[in-house]
Amino acid sequence: MTSSRPILITGAAGFIGFHLCERLLSDGRQVVGLDSMNEYYDVNLKRARLDRLNGFSNFRFEHVDLTERDRISALFLSTAPEVVVNLAAQAGVRYSLTNPHAYAESNLSGFLNILEGCRHASVGHLVYASSSSIYGGSTRMPFSVHDSADHPLSLYAASKKANELMAHTYSHLFGLPTTGLRFFTVYGPWGRPDMALFIFAKAILAGEPIDVFNYGNMQRDFTYIDDIVEGIVRVMRQPATSNPDWKSAAPDPATSNAPFRIHNIGGNSPVQLNRLIEVLEDALGRKANRNLMPIQPGDVPSTSADVSSLEEATGFKPKIPIEIGVPRFVKWYRDFYRV
Ligand code: NAD
Repeated sequence: MTSSRPILITGAAGFIGFHLCERLLSDGRQVVGLDSMNEYYDVNLKRARLDRLNGFSNFRFEHVDLTERDRISALFLSTAPEVVVNLAAQAGVRYSLTNPHAYAESNLSGFLNILEGCRHASVGHLVYASSSSIYGGSTRMPFSVHDSADHPLSLYAASKKANELMAHTYSHLFGLPTTGLRFFTVYGPWGRPDMALFIFAKAILAGEPIDVFNYGNMQRDFTYIDDIVEGIVRVMRQPATSNPDWKSAAPDPATSNAPFRIHNIGGNSPVQLNRLIEVLEDALGRKANRNLMPIQPGDVPSTSADVSSLEEATGFKPKIPIEIGVPRFVKWYRDFYRV
């Protein structure tokens, strides 16, 4: 990452995209941010994130949907990004049970448009969001990138797995360097209103009960946003030819320099939902009224990340525990919503 070509971040108005843009802009990089500003959750929160990014002179925003094939193609050719980080997607496991087409459109057709854009604009490295959900109900802990993960429990998870397969074909056929990052339950300031920590904080502050699925026994490898951003930035810097596994996976010498990589990025310290709620109660100074519920369709009972491939490749592994990260989220929440 040394050229003056810009970095293209899709999903720039989203939770992770916003933080990544802010980090790269602070580092002095030219960033083009793309987002459709969809209404999956509060658009005002997305606008507030964008307002902050627009304060940087090295930022340019493009209001485009990944599914707009011609506009995406033109944007890639006119921008000629050095690196693309694809974070735009229809996120959320439960929503995929009732709105499956949104996942096919954004995460499959939209992702194909990103791959084609990368191919024709000679992008140096495509880094894209995958998800811990692709491990499905695997009981082999921690989840390793070396284990097969072929039994997703939701269409969301299936679409993320499909992204990995699609990326592999573009690495193989066209020499496009790709790295898929399987994120594990990300949280932090400017976080997503559809995710548990946000929903719980809002309800507890309003004196309302919280629905605690799987009776609080769900286990998640919660990952603080700064660790995710650091992991992405380190991966972006990876040279295109450093993956020793690639050559054995792709005997065709014409493609032997094209790496296809997958890493987990997880907090490295799984905790039970009940423990998360305790830490949140301490940070808020209020007790939750828990409505204990069974596990929901599509949900996986446990996640736990083996991050050794990330550490080997970049020297980095996530470090921030929930006891530090949750109070930071609460401080932001109270300041932002003035509660
Ligand atoms: P987010 O919903 O906050 O951000 C995604 C952004 O993409 C949104 O601003 C949305 O408007 C935009 N978008 C959606 N569809 C689009 C389209 N078709 N064209 C253009 N823009 C579109 O989600 P996030 O938490 O920032 O997640 C970023 C990525 O990481 C997603 O791919 C998500 O699936 C993945 N991921 C997130 C988590 C997590 O815990 N947050 C975990 C695993 C994977």
